[in-house]
Amino acid sequence: MSNTKFTQQVLNSSQKKSGLSRRHFLKNTTAGLAGLGFWGASSRAFSKNAAHIVIIGGGIGGAAAAKYMRLLNADVKITVIEPNTQYIFCPGSNEVLPGWETLEELTVTYTTLKTRYSVNVVQDKATDIDYTNKRVKTAKGEVISYDKLIVSPGPTLDYEAIDGFNKSLAEGEFPSAWHAGAQTLKLREQVLSMKQGGTVLISSPKDPYRCPPAPYERASFILTMLKEHNPTGKVVILDSKDSFIFENVYPYYWKEHFGYGTNNSMIEWVSKSDGGDVIKLDATNHSVITANGTVHKGDVINIIPPEKAGQFALQNDLAEGDWCPVNFRDFTSTKFTDVHVIGDSIDGDPMPKTGYIASNQAKVVVQAINDELHGREIANPFIINDCVAMASKDFGMVLTETFRFAGDGKRLEERYNIPGATNDPARQVILQKVAENWQRSFRKDIFS
Ligand SMILES: Cc1cc2nc3c(=O)[nH]c(=O)nc-3n(C[C@H](O)[C@H](O)[C@H](O)COP(=O)(O)OP(=O)(O)OC[C@H]3O[C@@H](n4cnc5c(N)ncnc54)[C@H](O)[C@@H]3O)c2cc1C
Repeated sequence: MSNTKFTQQVLNSSQKKSGLSRRHFLKNTTAGLAGLGFWGASSRAFSKNAAHIVIIGGGIGGAAAAKYMRLLNADVKITVIEPNTQYIFCPGSNEVLPGWETLEELTVTYTTLKTRYSVNVVQDKATDIDYTNKRVKTAKGEVISYDKLIVSPGPTLDYEAIDGFNKSLAEGEFPSAWHAGAQTLKLREQVLSMKQGGTVLISSPKDPYRCPPAPYERASFILTMLKEHNPTGKVVILDSKDSFIFENVYPYYWKEHFGYGTNNSMIEWVSKSDGGDVIKLDATNHSVITANGTVHKGDVINIIPPEKAGQFALQNDLAEGDWCPVNFRDFTSTKFTDVHVIGDSIDGDPMPKTGYIASNQAKVVVQAINDELHGREIANPFIINDCVAMASKDFGMVLTETFRFAGDGKRLEERYNIPGATNDPARQVILQKVAENWQRSFRKDIFS
């Protein structure tokens, strides 16, 4: 079946009413639209030949789910709803700062998903889920029926949690660069043009947030830039935590190369207990204020805001508090049937929020869906995370974690840590190559 024909089949044109409010949609779809003959409109219609898997979000979790669903099952229909025509990988985006990587290298399109994996990509923003009738509405007014829904909208960056900060300031003078793109280039430009002897402030958020080592990796890369262009410049990390991943490795590197812990150190790390918790931005005076009232002036200010579940998940009642609760066995929402939530939006503790984890969750979900389609028992899966990070072009670190959940699907049963970081320089060079290669092959795993 061609994509066009397929789209026509699953979209009910009578519902293309762009002015429809969310509440109106939910009310109408539950009552008025039942029985209109939507394909696959009830879970009883979930048969292996006709199943329609709809995926919200074409980022790492969503794209991995689409590709691997197709690799498992040639018959199902797969639709990805994603507003953007291209996706820029965050893994590798810190490397854009010193110029070791370009945004172009990190950018992929949906062509391969469409052509090689016969995935129907709807370039639109999902707005509402009608859980009763199993339909999703989009911003352009399309209504798409699903048998199984996979939601992977990424996180909401909560700029407003920092007093005086907001999205437009992040898009202007104070780039967060926590979604790879224009802000990443802006931050690079600001560091390169900072006055001699100036200070770069990095505010590292409270847990949980995407890619735990990334703020410290970023600080290390900026230090390398300063050493070359601005040797009297300084980086101050103001932390909303008292500890961080690889906390025995980054300080070692900083001490070796930037005098960490000495009077002439180019880097300072201020823990939460020592007053590092940034609560306010004073944009006019180019400074931030921490919880204990200390004012830190910065020439470049990089606030990485705290996070919560993606806006779409919050608006569709998939969250409890800030995050979406799921059954860890198959990542089904604990709140709605036939809906799986994966990636940065879930309450996944103790799993970190990483692309690697999101892609593994996607693989677990599609396996579970395929098993259900074939009437097979769903396995209790292992979920693996390879956390790779760098400090420079010749210093890397890798941590492998494996998770498995208790029989009730809700609690962590086992966790194995295989520490990959040492203070051996030769090993550190190899780990950097591992990390660099991982990023390149990971992009291929998801998008080719
Ligand atoms: C600087 C940095 C470095 C990182 N480095 C690494 C690393 O080295 N290794 C690693 O494993 N992870 C890394 N990460 C983390 C990784 O990027 C995320 O954990 C991962 O992208 C999460 O996948 P996701 O599918 O949940 O969200 P995303 O990949 O963010 O995808 C979400 C998608 O959903 C779409 N979307 C949102 N709302 C809607 C809607 N209403 N309708 C339709 N679509 C919607 C968005 O447009 C987006 O395409 C890094 C992150 C950062 C910030």
